[in-house]
Amino acid sequence: MSRNKKNGLQPETEAIRTQIPRSEFQEHSAPLYLTSSFVFDDAEDMRASFAEEKERNIYSRYSNPNTSEWIDKVCKMEGAEDGFAFASGMAAVFSTFAALLESGDHIVSSRSVFGSTHTLFTQFFPKWNIQHSYFQPDRLEDIPALIGPNTKMLYAETPTNPGVDVLDLEALGKIARDHGILLVIDNCFATPYLQQPIRFGADLVIHSGTKLMDGQGRVLAGITVGSRELIDRVYRFSRITGPALSPFNAWLLSKSMETLAVRVDRQCENALKVAEFLSAHPKVNWVKYPFLKSHPAHALAVKQMKAGGCVVAFEVAGGVEGGRRFFDQIQLLSLSANLGDSRSIVTHPASTTHSKLSPEQRQASGITDGMVRISVGLEHPADILADLEQALKAV
Ligand SMILES: *Cc1c(COP(=O)(O)O)cnc(C)c1O
Repeated sequence: MSRNKKNGLQPETEAIRTQIPRSEFQEHSAPLYLTSSFVFDDAEDMRASFAEEKERNIYSRYSNPNTSEWIDKVCKMEGAEDGFAFASGMAAVFSTFAALLESGDHIVSSRSVFGSTHTLFTQFFPKWNIQHSYFQPDRLEDIPALIGPNTKMLYAETPTNPGVDVLDLEALGKIARDHGILLVIDNCFATPYLQQPIRFGADLVIHSGTKLMDGQGRVLAGITVGSRELIDRVYRFSRITGPALSPFNAWLLSKSMETLAVRVDRQCENALKVAEFLSAHPKVNWVKYPFLKSHPAHALAVKQMKAGGCVVAFEVAGGVEGGRRFFDQIQLLSLSANLGDSRSIVTHPASTTHSKLSPEQRQASGITDGMVRISVGLEHPADILADLEQALKAV
């Protein structure tokens, strides 16, 4: 789809210079194609288009120029051949599974997955006879014993939410290859700027575009990228079932990709400052951030990621009560469940995003009652630290 004659450009440049062909008006910035359908020249054009003898836009449930531009950018950054864009991250997760799995199939997944993905595995897939087994994110050696003859897919997120554990992508890629199963990675926390799982052997990569890709808390979006053959199967399922991304949201996201690298660089810089500040604070029991030397998988994080991401996890002293006082005292930062926004956000996973898990499941996912997740934004770091400092005084 790209007009530019170029190859071997850096990802930052691809995110800016990948653009759909200009219209007759020679606009510099890609216009918004807010249209549900497209027209044909004549009967033969229409027949050939529907017969898929031509690659062209027919209907925006199948494809749209704005959506294609965003997909093209993510594919170039991830090193993927093709992709499909969805109305939300969860639409991408669900449609990818639904397109590739049959009744009777089995998934082996990291236990630390996004809350709604966990609910999909435990409450909805059983009705289509799709089973799952969980492994602990720090025990990849347990995976081979969980793989059976009907296992089709190995699934993981890294860094994980909200515990920011880091899983070894190269080791996961090798396990999947050795057993002839697909490796699917939700790369939402890292973005394709910080980490490209396909380089380590992933077959498909999923993102919620709602987080750092939009980066300003405006739109919901999702995307799955990978080989042409696998994406074709995801596309054939999705063009019929209708989880397509709105062209308006795709247009916004494609613009947001142009600033992804600078935003993420600054957010990671700020997050490291927050992590270092909290590590030295007497009212904080522990801090986890992939690029802190104290992180159990620090060396691995440095190997597979360009920087540590925008999420820091920590535990305030004083258990549930300490946590409550901390949250009630926060003034600048937002109390919200979103992440990856330009505004810093604090969340209490045990009472919000992960409240549907049983206490045992929360413990298995490393979520303690006093745990706080901060998604560090783009405010001046001195202001972020000052708000945390005054809130910790109340603990
Ligand atoms: C937010 C999120 C999702 C779901 O994305 P939505 O756009 O909210 O549907 C999936 N995976 C991870 C890791 C997420 O953080």
